[in-house]
Amino acid sequence: MSAPSAATRWLPLLVVAIAAAAGFFWFGLFERPDEDQIPASAFEVRVRLSSFEDERPKLLRLSTEQGFELRLGDEPASAVETRVERVLELRASIDTSNPPTLAVQLPDGRRFPRLQLRASGPSEGLGLGERRYAGTLTIEIAGDYHHETGDTTFLRVTNTVGVEHYLAGVIGPEISPRAAMAALEAQSIAARSYAAHRMARQGLLFDTASSQVYQGLSALDRRVITALRRTKGEILSMDGEKPLATFYHSTCGGHTAKGAEIFPTEADPIPGVASPDCEGTAHYRWSYSLSKEQAGKLVETLGLGTRLVGLQAEKRESASGRWISLLVRGDLTERAVGVREWKIACSNAGVAVPKDMLWHDVSLVDGALAVNGGGFGHGVGMCQMCARRMGERGASAEEILARFYPGARVHELSQESAR
Ligand SMILES: [Zn+2]
Repeated sequence: MSAPSAATRWLPLLVVAIAAAAGFFWFGLFERPDEDQIPASAFEVRVRLSSFEDERPKLLRLSTEQGFELRLGDEPASAVETRVERVLELRASIDTSNPPTLAVQLPDGRRFPRLQLRASGPSEGLGLGERRYAGTLTIEIAGDYHHETGDTTFLRVTNTVGVEHYLAGVIGPEISPRAAMAALEAQSIAARSYAAHRMARQGLLFDTASSQVYQGLSALDRRVITALRRTKGEILSMDGEKPLATFYHSTCGGHTAKGAEIFPTEADPIPGVASPDCEGTAHYRWSYSLSKEQAGKLVETLGLGTRLVGLQAEKRESASGRWISLLVRGDLTERAVGVREWKIACSNAGVAVPKDMLWHDVSLVDGALAVNGGGFGHGVGMCQMCARRMGERGASAEEILARFYPGARVHELSQESAR
């Protein structure tokens, strides 16, 4: 028998591969997350799309399938016009007369301090950059123009959207959509409570980790939508009314931190609890080191000399032992440095920023720093890795939340109570 040709040998494999790809494609279509399945919202949130501001945009290109509804201003009485085009470009415009006036400019040259846009009719939302957003986008001009110091203007975008649509763009980026359903449900309730708390306190959220990472409709996932439907309108509260400031983080490293000591301006009594379930996950334990040169740059950035000669905890959080402030001794002088200042100084000096301040042992040899520690994040409230592990082992969302926010109860916001 002669040896089969290459084509004969590979043909069955090729057929299987094509069939698999077609199946995948069909499954993908069938399983496409359906935006219509996102539940109705009990309240709206305002989210500053601050992730766009790094580039200080002076031109924004918005797109939609069915045209725009445009409100010329942000008063309810502002004029509304409908535009049929699918792409709309808005520019930051400066009239340099004295005093200068700043405005958002439409393609026809008309200028307004602020514009509100939404898709006209039922739609897939508004496209901006790589992302799509439900609800309304408010575009305004921010920054300043001075004849002497120049121009720092840019276009600022804020998304006003129902909280459930907001959460549909938060849960996926914040915790993997592949997490156990109980963990997705716990994350949904925690993220909804946090959003309600921030809105009550500041009236504004940001789309970065400074609030919660939010990627609009681009982050839709079928399992996330299921978790939202199962927890629709539910928040955590100690008193049944005020939403809890449900801080959460990636990895606790075995013990969470007492909220009031990490975030002194937040009054909610979130305790630090032992939580071993994240043991063995990627950030449970780590080493953090700075070479002599790197530590020297950091000391220089902090204005303490050019060489690190001493480092110890100046103050520790009382439940987990996380460092809250560091006593940094340089060859010139020494002082207490808060964690935030330490992290900013690390960035400014171009050296590694520690993942967490759960520092177990610290050694300083000839100006070089080595730390063994654990955890990832600020350590307050729910540990997402513990939550995932607990969910995989059969815990319910309520059981997960009860560990990290003891004393809080799940409370359903009605449409009425949110008004
Ligand atoms: Zn943990």
